[in-house]
Formats: sequence, C-alpha cells, structure tokens
Amino acid sequence: MNADGWRKVEIENWRPPLDYLERRVRLESCPDLADEFRELVAEAACVARPRAAWSAVPVQSVQSAQDDSGSGQVRCGGVEFRSPMLAHNLSNTGTAFPYIATCGDEIDKRFPSLDDPLAEYWLDEIKSAALYAAYDLLREEIRSTGGTGQLNSMNPGSGNAMLWPLSQQVPLFRILGEDASNWAGVKLGDSLLMKPNKSVSGLFFFGADGFVSCAYCERDGCPNRRAPCGMTEL
Ligand code: SF4
Repeated sequence: MNADGWRKVEIENWRPPLDYLERRVRLESCPDLADEFRELVAEAACVARPRAAWSAVPVQSVQSAQDDSGSGQVRCGGVEFRSPMLAHNLSNTGTAFPYIATCGDEIDKRFPSLDDPLAEYWLDEIKSAALYAAYDLLREEIRSTGGTGQLNSMNPGSGNAMLWPLSQQVPLFRILGEDASNWAGVKLGDSLLMKPNKSVSGLFFFGADGFVSCAYCERDGCPNRRAPCGMTEL
C-alpha cells in the first residue's frame, strides 16, 4: 500500500490470449494477414503493462433517494457521490473499493498512429484483452480482502445516463488521487472519457444481490451486454 492509501496490481510479462484474439478478429477469414496480426500482438505484448490502482474506503453515510427527495447521496472515502442506485447498492455495506483498471498507456505510445483502420481495430482488440487481464487480477485481489456476498461494480456513465452520470468520474478520480491515476497512466479528457480508451473506473462493493449495469441500459446491439435490459431505475 502507498503512503496515501492506494494499492496497485500489475501484470508484468503479459501473455496475450492469442487463440482468443484470433477468433475475435476472425483471422480465419483472412489467413494471408495472419503473420502481420501475430507480429502486432507480439510487439504490443512486449511493451504492455496491464494494471489497476485501487483502494478500500469506508462508506461514511448514505442518503437514499427516498430520504433525499430523489437525488440519492453517498459519502465515502471523504468524497461525495450522487446516484440513487449507488446509494441503494452501498446502503448495507461498510466498505467500497474505488478503482481504475487499464491496458496501460504503453501500447498507445508504441503505436501512436497506424494509418490503417484494420490495424487500429486489431490494436483495440489487443488492448481490450490487456484490460480484461488487469480487471480479472483486480477482482481477485479485492475478493481476497475477505468481503462476503457477491462482488459487484458500478461505473460512472455505464447503463442509462442517470444511473450514475459520467460527471461522477471527477470525484471518483479524486478518491484515488493524482499519484494513482498517473501511475496507471490514465487521464480524464475534457469529455470525461478516459485515455487510454481501454480503461475502466468504478467502485466495487460486496452485496447480497448481484448488480449489473446492463440490466438498466437500453443501448441496442451492444456486443458487451452481460444481462438483458429490463430493470427500472430507482
Ligand atoms: S449494455 Fe453495453 S453499454 Fe450498456 S451497460 Fe452493458 S456493456 Fe455498457
């Protein structure tokens, strides 16, 4: 743990899941490009440092939507969040785990401009795989803290717009602090989207019930959907 309380997990010598990536990009449909693709994967793997910064912070107070004329407010780690759903989800837990997980900025630095849409697409898939590896490692780490129940995550901007608005990235990054986001190599842009693009930020929490933002998201055709849309917001 660092002096200011945040922790880190990092994958050194990341080994990309080549079979998975080849299926993702449908390499069997363009076998003449196989060497080029594998070369790109190998070069990206040489520089990649998938990683995550996180901390464990006390949930200090929760005002539910009903208590607070519909807004829903949570104070944790000295920072205030506004989201009725977050207030609902954190109402029965004493600890929240803010985090930033990322593929790292090394791949973007190694390939600043490829001038080839297909290679850009390939690189995005490679970066996604690196992010998943960092995210899985982070989940294991947080599970090992000994919390009970299901480990869930909420992410600003995920799900319908008002579930936990993207603007809440600002207090989320404030909890972890500048040292943590600098170490992760993740920056918040003016639009509050993260760079590198294959980064995810949020709060983990343990709860009796499973929570999936997708159940509150009406976006059609999302390839990453993990639950059917069907729930109404609080
Ligand atoms: S359906 Fe897609 S866009 Fe909506 S919350 Fe799930 S992953 Fe995100």
